[in-house]
Amino acid sequence: MRKKLAAGNWKMNGLKADLHEVAALIAAHPTPKCDVLLCPPATLLAAMSMTAAGRIAVGGQDCHMAASGAHTGDVSAQMLADAGAHYVILGHSERRADHGESDEIVLAKAQAAQAADLTAVICVGETEGERDAGATLEIIGRQLAGSTPEGATGANTVIAYEPVWAIGTGRTPTLEQIAEVHDFLRARLIERFGAEGETIRLLYGGSVKPSNATEIFAVSNVDGALVGGASLKASDFGAIIAAL
Ligand code: PGA
Repeated sequence: MRKKLAAGNWKMNGLKADLHEVAALIAAHPTPKCDVLLCPPATLLAAMSMTAAGRIAVGGQDCHMAASGAHTGDVSAQMLADAGAHYVILGHSERRADHGESDEIVLAKAQAAQAADLTAVICVGETEGERDAGATLEIIGRQLAGSTPEGATGANTVIAYEPVWAIGTGRTPTLEQIAEVHDFLRARLIERFGAEGETIRLLYGGSVKPSNATEIFAVSNVDGALVGGASLKASDFGAIIAAL
């Protein structure tokens, strides 16, 4: 049985003054049925981890592939763990686009996350052009194979399907389109990892909000959500948690 996961990605948003949203979330949902994760900017990790006090998990939004060294401005997986993180988002489409992250780079980062005992939330997703060209499954299959490390388990790996054209746009795929991709991801994971592939959670991400969460969570092989904009406010994210 895969436990559902509600994951929030604050992206480049959030100051110390916003941590009251985390306190409010915990107060409103003291015993959620699902796992709850918030990924703030690296600057807020340690403080959010204190506020969360183990009631919800916190995670990073990226890490470097090396454990330490001369990499100005970067943060290692071990540093995230040291600041209280248990997860790290890797290969988000904004990083793939803004920082030229290839599958090889995401793979190396996922290996670094594994070595630091962090659970990697590995993101895959097609652009609108790729979907229009009928290449969705080919693209996603390639990203999954290229970005997921050997030794992936339900404990150390989560896969997030995030169509690039659905992120921050208010548009979402049809439930049939979500089901097609999630069933495909599940089959590929089982092909590669055997029974362990059954235990790896599959999140949907891209314009998830309280009003569409219930129907998306009912889709086969959807084990939760990776939420951007709607994770910033306790009221919205709380409603999504309650829908899981
Ligand atoms: P969104 O972002 O929920 O704001 O569309 C999702 C994501 O990028 O993870």
